[in-house]
Amino acid sequence: MADSGTPASMQLRGQALLQDPVHNKGTAFTDRERDALGLRGLLPARVHTQPEQVQRVLANMRRLPTDLDKYIFLTALHDRNETLFFRVVMENAEEIMPLIYTPTVGLGCQLYGRIYRRPRGLFVTAADAGRVKQVLQNWKQKAGIIVVTDGERILGLGDLGAQGMGIPVGKLSLYTACAGMHPALCLPVTLDVGTENEELLQDPLYIGQVRRRLRGADYDALVEEFVTAANEVFPGVLVQFEDFANANAFRLLHKYQDRICTFNDDIQGTASVALSGLKSAIRITGKSLADTRVLFLGAGEAAVGIADLVTASLVAQGLPEAEARKRCWLVDSKGLVVASRTDLTDHKRKYAHEHAAVKEFPDAVNALKPQAIVGVAAVGRTFTRQVIEAMGSFNERPIVFALSNPTSKSECTAEEAYAWSGGRAIFACGSPFAPVNVNGKTFVPRQGNNSYIFPGVGLGVVSCKARRVTDEMFLAAADTLAGMVSQADLDQGSIYPSLSRMREVSAAIAASVADVAFRRGLAGVPQPADTAAFIRSCMYEPSYPTYA
Ligand code: NAD
Repeated sequence: MADSGTPASMQLRGQALLQDPVHNKGTAFTDRERDALGLRGLLPARVHTQPEQVQRVLANMRRLPTDLDKYIFLTALHDRNETLFFRVVMENAEEIMPLIYTPTVGLGCQLYGRIYRRPRGLFVTAADAGRVKQVLQNWKQKAGIIVVTDGERILGLGDLGAQGMGIPVGKLSLYTACAGMHPALCLPVTLDVGTENEELLQDPLYIGQVRRRLRGADYDALVEEFVTAANEVFPGVLVQFEDFANANAFRLLHKYQDRICTFNDDIQGTASVALSGLKSAIRITGKSLADTRVLFLGAGEAAVGIADLVTASLVAQGLPEAEARKRCWLVDSKGLVVASRTDLTDHKRKYAHEHAAVKEFPDAVNALKPQAIVGVAAVGRTFTRQVIEAMGSFNERPIVFALSNPTSKSECTAEEAYAWSGGRAIFACGSPFAPVNVNGKTFVPRQGNNSYIFPGVGLGVVSCKARRVTDEMFLAAADTLAGMVSQADLDQGSIYPSLSRMREVSAAIAASVADVAFRRGLAGVPQPADTAAFIRSCMYEPSYPTYA
């Protein structure tokens, strides 16, 4: 583990200490520490405990009128007192995760230039070509994990250029809060290669380079230089690609997944959380995965990633690959993906089955009569009453996953899914929805959000120093997550465990991922006798050390 400023190594004193977010304890510095560290008089006299500080933070935050205000408030806390920030997030995951991540982070990114206060992470610009290694060397901690974006496809909001930095920052906060990844190991990076977003290009407060996107060979060369430099400066670092446009996301994953320790969360993390949701949903429908036809609205990173992992899961169960692929059907902006189409990219072609052309999604639903529909097109309101009623007409328990983010892009609301199916839909959503009452029964929809998966996968990979991240690890993560859904969860319509169990879930996923690494000879540390205990010993706890 990296040096987090243990008492022995802590050199800071006085005002400098209070300004340092890693070591600052605010009003929780004890009288002894105040004397020993030159803090006497710099703080009000009353010493508060961390739980008292948490109460103050929560009360102040809850008084704020909008989620964006809360996002700004929490960012400021993160900048001021990192330990307290993670304590607050960890103990209030259900309330705070939607504020520091989806859906609020979407607005945070759109307005990043306007709400900007302090830098966090590293910006590598197109102008840094040839000196990327020097830029990375300016980061003085020993990064174990990098989350990197180029800002081109931020959630379902499109190209936000350098303002996409909110995503790596938010994801890494979840790594620490959900999985106990040590904050000192976390490095958010934005490849600021320009933007095609006219509004941002015209905005005097835009924080990135004012230029059109770098493309083609120059773009590839910059990514290559970054990946190489990252591995030189931080040997073995896990590089998680995040919110790249799909043409680059698939290419870069294929280029690097067998060369470095890397994964793409939009493709592989999403796949794992959705597969897990399907595995829990079929406990309710009583059908096997092989008997579950899945129709995707969308044919991009999320859809193809999920379809690939469903296929891998079926192949692991013994189905031939060609047969397994036939369980998954895609609809893109031009209609059903079928063999006769000539406009398909390679990643869609794998799922182009023999079928007559179908233009509209509702017609595809009626033609294929799927057991499950999965919305990942970032087009809101597309699971209409007609679609949900059709699903309910040929399924006793239709599976309806409206996974697009943020909330404005959700294919339908939880209320619509339950109301239009007479309370029979097995529903999961990308952004959070409140519990819904239909016909006297309360349903608790939970988020099919990859934040159930990536923190545990990353923790597992980093803890055992795995050299590669494999599909088998994402299958293991999906199985572990599904295994943590109780009958009581299912009875209330929840196909994921409560967010309040996030650390327990992440620890279990990390152990299952590390076990794959040990089994496959991919780990860089000796296999411990007890993987779960080993993982727990690697997890960061946001408690204040005693400095004096
Ligand atoms: P993407 O850009 O790779 O793919 C979008 C796909 O939607 C493309 O195939 C496009 O052809 C298709 N599409 C666009 N308009 C359409 C229309 N009118 N009808 C049918 N298809 C249409 O994006 P992605 O990474 O796959 O993400 C898509 C959405 O899924 C986003 O909103 C994202 O936030 C969400 N998502 C959610 C999670 C989660 O954990 N819940 C994870 C990943 C992505």
